[in-house]
Formats: sequence, structure tokens, C-alpha cells
Amino acid sequence: MSDLIQALREKGYEATIGLEVHVQLNTQSKIFASDPNMPESEPNTQVGVITLGHPGTLPVLNKEVLEKAILMGLACDSTITKENHFARKSYFYPDLPKGYQTTQDKTPICVGGEVKLIGDNLLQESISLHHIHVEEDAGKSVHDEEHDTWIDLNRAGSPLIEIVTNPAIKGPNEASIFLQEVRRIVRFLGISEANMEKGELRCDANISIKPINQEELGRKVEIKNMNSFNHVRRAISFEIERQHGLELKGELIEEETRTFDPNTGKTSSMRFKETMNDYRYFPCPDLPPVLLEDEYLNELKASSPKIPAYYRTRFGQDYGLKDYDVQLLVEEKETAHYFLTLCEHGVNPKKASNWFNGPLKGFLNDKKASLKDVEVNQMIDLLKLMEEGKLMSAVVQRDLLPALIESKKSVNTLAEELNLLAEDDSSALEGIVSEVLLSLPNEVEAYRKGKKKLMGLFIGKVMKRSRGKANPKEVQILLNQKLKWVDF
Ligand code: MN
Repeated sequence: MSDLIQALREKGYEATIGLEVHVQLNTQSKIFASDPNMPESEPNTQVGVITLGHPGTLPVLNKEVLEKAILMGLACDSTITKENHFARKSYFYPDLPKGYQTTQDKTPICVGGEVKLIGDNLLQESISLHHIHVEEDAGKSVHDEEHDTWIDLNRAGSPLIEIVTNPAIKGPNEASIFLQEVRRIVRFLGISEANMEKGELRCDANISIKPINQEELGRKVEIKNMNSFNHVRRAISFEIERQHGLELKGELIEEETRTFDPNTGKTSSMRFKETMNDYRYFPCPDLPPVLLEDEYLNELKASSPKIPAYYRTRFGQDYGLKDYDVQLLVEEKETAHYFLTLCEHGVNPKKASNWFNGPLKGFLNDKKASLKDVEVNQMIDLLKLMEEGKLMSAVVQRDLLPALIESKKSVNTLAEELNLLAEDDSSALEGIVSEVLLSLPNEVEAYRKGKKKLMGLFIGKVMKRSRGKANPKEVQILLNQKLKWVDF
């Protein structure tokens, strides 16, 4: 439990947090128009008449948007709404040319569900969802140094899902971990890149505190538009402390919208009250209801990509890996999928995960390479040769991996061409061991008199002379034997 929540509880209070997470879907075109869904292009180049809401134009729902929203709902065990309606949420803002946002008000496409949290010492195991709805994004207002504001409407009409949790999150860590898992899920499903710097995943938080035994929630404050896990954690922590401070002084907590400044670590009032707005929601007359059939939903369910939880179960329960290793392997979809393929081809999961999360990761980082550069079949052969003791880890890192990245040849061929296979010719190895011992008479004498630490030196010298190809265990056995004898 975080110190902050601990301290709050000792004073008899607890925090309640709800999140609204907007995820930009990576569809080809926008939600109601054929404009390309490419918000990052040259400003105002991806904007047609439907996006601008010109009179006489009619929106048409993009099927891909619904499909991706449903995939998210299925991944969170939500109930999928069969009859969907769209509504207009009216407000004026320069980057909203239509004067209203088309969204779902009464019939969100996914209802309920939950996201399980990953980690130790958490205040809760999962976070329940209120619903997930689809809606369109607004454009962007860009403020320049001359205090001018520029409008870019490329993003207007880009599809979003909004994931709304119940007010059920108990602390800032839990909120941040929830958000991280949401990002993993949407990436594994392939429905969004969820790049937070680009605003493809952004989060609003509703925060209140109340006495522990009080049923009714306290007065809530909303923090808008955070786009980093760290900001979410810090903003919520600051806000809980601020509210508790006001409570202790007997001051009223204003129900207001606040903004977080990452430079100061503080939230400040945006001077308007969201609750005062009247959005005049009404059903969108341009969009007919969308009815979803069981057959369609079942097909979608059957073809749905695997989510992080699936890989965690496979690695943890089927292959007996430790939580720590599982988390590292399930951070990214490519790694998880690649590693599962290895396991299914009979490599030793524990050895493979040590190699993956250790030397291999280091090597790929150094070379700015990725797993895509080593074909999965090559990796299977590589791991099996290492298991059999025919390839030494040090040799693989130094000579074989760089060659593998460049070549599609089989691991066996490359290892032979580069003469990297371990010396199974023990007479050759014996020769090296003898040479090394003969070249170090003083050390041998010292070892025989009890300076056993010198074993490391002998092993090192032998490994070096064998160019790393000798099996260290074998080397040690040979050294032990020979050091007992008078002659080498
Ligand atoms: Mn929204």
C-alpha cells in the first residue's frame, strides 16, 4: 500500500477514484466519413464535408470502429449491447465545427466488465468498468507563441473508445497500473497504437475522499487530459493530499475541473465547472440504430486476438515461469507471441526466459535490433544447441547473434561456417587445459597448497584459449582432474 493511502486511512479517510480513458482507434478512415484517419498529417488535409458537418451531408458509421470497440469489450468481459444508438452532445468549441459531438449516451456498446491488475501489494485485484462507448474525437487547437490559436481538424471525426471505470479505484498506483494494462490490452488486440505522446491514450480522473465508514461519495474533482502514467499517479496523489488538507481545515472542496502541471507537480483550477454545462443530449437523427447479431458477435469472439492475460496464464501455469519473468515477456505482444512459439516448439521455458530477459535483451538493445531480426526458427535451433551444450552463451552473443541478424541461414550452418560449435573433442580441450596449467606453474603450486580461488583464473584462461567455445562445466571437471595429478 502506498504511504499516502496508508496515512489517509490512519486519519480515518479513504480515496475514491474513477477514470475516463480515451483511446484513439487505428481504423483506416474516420468514424462517420471516408476521410483517412491520419491526425498526424499536414494540418487540415484530412477533412471532408461530413467531418465539417456541412448541411445536406449524412454520416455513415464505419463498421471497423464497432468491431474494434467490441473486441475491447470482449477482452474486459463486458456485456455487448445489441441495439446501439448514437446521440448528439452539443457544445461550442472552435475545434468542433459541427457544434456537437456524436457519441453514445444511453446505449454504450459495452456494459460492465473488469480489468485485472498486475503487481504486488495492491489495494485491489481488479477494477470494474462502468461501460465502454464509442464516439468521435474533436480537432486540435494549437496555441503558438504569439498567442494565436490555430485549428487543425485532421483529428475531428477520428474514432475513440471511452473506457469509463466505476468509482472503484482505491489509490494512485492502482489507477496508473490500470492504465498500463489498458494500453497493453489495446495494443495486443491491435485496435490502437496507444502512443501517449501523440494523445492516442489520454485519461481524465475523478477524485474524492470520504470518511471510511461513510457510504456516500465525497465531493469530486475532475482532472482533465493526462497523457502519461507518471502524471496520472502524481496528479491523483497531489489531489488526494490537497483535498485531505482542505477537509482537515474544515474548508469546502469545490466540485470543479482542474489541470495538472507536471513541472510543479500540482493541480490548479481551470475556473469552470463541468457540472454547470448542459450538453442537451438528444438522439442523432442522421444515424439509424445499429443492431448486432449473435452470429456476428460469435465470429468476432472466435477470431479475437489473444490478450496479455492469456499469455500470462500460458507462461505461468503451463510453462511454470516466475511472475517476474512472465511480466517482462508479456510487456509487448511481439515478445509474448514469439516466446510462446518457442515454448510450443519444445525449448526449455526457464532457460529460454533467462536468456530472453538477460543476454538477448541486452544484445538487441545494444544493436538497436529487435526480435523481428531473428527468425523464430533460428531462435528455436539456437536455444536447443545451447541447451545441448553445443553453443556457449558468450560465443552466441559475441559471434553468432550478429551473424544471425544479417543472415537467413540456419543456425547450424552459420555456427559451422564460423567455427563456433563447442569443442566436443575432449582431447583438444585436454590439450588446452594442459597448456594453460603448464604456463602457470606458480599458480598451480599455490592452488595445490590451498588457494582454491585460483580456479577462476584457470577457467578464464582455458575459455579464452578455446575462444569461448569450451563448455565451462567440462573445463572445470578437466581442471579438477589434472590439478590432482602431478603431471598434466
Ligand atoms: Mn468522451
